Amino acid sequence: MVNKSIEELLRSDKKRIWHPFTQMGDWVRDDPSRPIVIEKGRGAYLWDKRGNKYIDGISSLWVTVHGHGKREIDAAISSQAKKISHTTFLGLTHEPAILLAEILLKIAPGNLSRVFYSDNGSTSVEVALKMAYQYHVQKNRSAKRDVFISLENAYHGDTIGSVSVGGMGLFHSKFSPLLFEAKHIPSPYCYRCRHRKLAVPGGRAEDFKDHTAKTGCGGECLKEAADTFKKYGKRTAALVMEPLIQGAAGMLTFPTGYTKALERLCRQHGVLLICDEVATGFGRTGKMFAVEHEGVEPDFLCVAKGMTGGYLPLAATITTERVYGAFLGRYEDFKTFFHGHTYTANPLACAAAIANLELFKTENTLRTLGPKIKYFKKRLDEFNEHPNVGNVRQLGLMAGIELVKNRETAEDYPANQKIGARVCAAARRYGLMIRPLGNVLVLMPPLAIKVKELEKMFEAVRFSMEDTL
Ligand SMILES: *Cc1c(COP(=O)(O)O)cnc(C)c1O
Repeated sequence: MVNKSIEELLRSDKKRIWHPFTQMGDWVRDDPSRPIVIEKGRGAYLWDKRGNKYIDGISSLWVTVHGHGKREIDAAISSQAKKISHTTFLGLTHEPAILLAEILLKIAPGNLSRVFYSDNGSTSVEVALKMAYQYHVQKNRSAKRDVFISLENAYHGDTIGSVSVGGMGLFHSKFSPLLFEAKHIPSPYCYRCRHRKLAVPGGRAEDFKDHTAKTGCGGECLKEAADTFKKYGKRTAALVMEPLIQGAAGMLTFPTGYTKALERLCRQHGVLLICDEVATGFGRTGKMFAVEHEGVEPDFLCVAKGMTGGYLPLAATITTERVYGAFLGRYEDFKTFFHGHTYTANPLACAAAIANLELFKTENTLRTLGPKIKYFKKRLDEFNEHPNVGNVRQLGLMAGIELVKNRETAEDYPANQKIGARVCAAARRYGLMIRPLGNVLVLMPPLAIKVKELEKMFEAVRFSMEDTL
């Protein structure tokens, strides 16, 4: 590779590259010394090409688990590369994919028993949607189930199918003429509840009943959901949801029991349940999967982001024997699931995922997470006192701090102030790399982060808020 100076690299980037979720006009106009060019990573830290060190406060967009440069994962990838880096999964198979499926099914909740691989979160949801639809078509030809139910504020990825079940106006509304129809049920965003006049603290700290008592909540969102199921249940193929916490919408934590209650509605109406654990899977919430908090047993579990520990793109849609069985038949029945991606089950990625999941065992990751989460929560609670913090939400090592202009009225900062982005820009000066969701500061450090590093992270957040607000 040719050696280019940072300035040359940035000039070339700005001339040739189109970045995701980025207003490129701003990007190319930015100070010539920016943006940051990342050079390397170790543990919970990133270094840029100028030698500056940052805590990776969002796990490189929610993927890093055991830290960067983890010896065991690096070794697994290079040892697999010496054998073969890629072979097709259409009509052939290989050892890393088989061994990984064994491990996934051991840790998967409920009676999930079949692994369908793909290569990113969006496609893992896309696969579940298509499977659910085709399942009903093949299982019961007379009853048409062509509706999907999903939640407001949902994010399931950026492909057209996953956008169709998405519920974020900002990302999705422009495409509405292209999308298939999904019926949206409420997202229990308690802080901005449309049924209460005043903003109330949301979150899972309390039971749904306690929540009801404390806030005067009448459980309206659940009633609305039940009405939607009553109206469309018979025509619905599946409910798709992010269990317990909606990530991209701003780390919206549900009151305890909401996910379980939706599972019950699915069972009552013969609707399949797709749980999108692309963000929450692999320990993020303190358990291996978020559904375990409420004993929810989905018909489809979609996983991606953390599966390879943040090393390579890989995803899986894990389903039951019941669903799988509906696709069996003679070749000429054409019950086959006609779907697959070129890089399905890439062996390097599978090898990384195996090493990642083995580390959960050898390093006792979930057990050692307890004290970190406790500390994380304690430090987050301190932000509740801040005059520009409206709501703090947390589950495991996932958190959102919602900044507001006026705490009494929950009034938002206007979008053109880019307040979230400005706090995050300031955080870089204090050695912390984070990325906001609108006016919500997101903190989602790698599970391997140490308490000492968490302490530094919170210090940096506090300083950058002081500088900006
Ligand atoms: C990130 C995310 C996706 C999309 O995953 P990609 O790999 O970016 O396609 C889907 N669902 C949820 C809940 C996510 O957080």
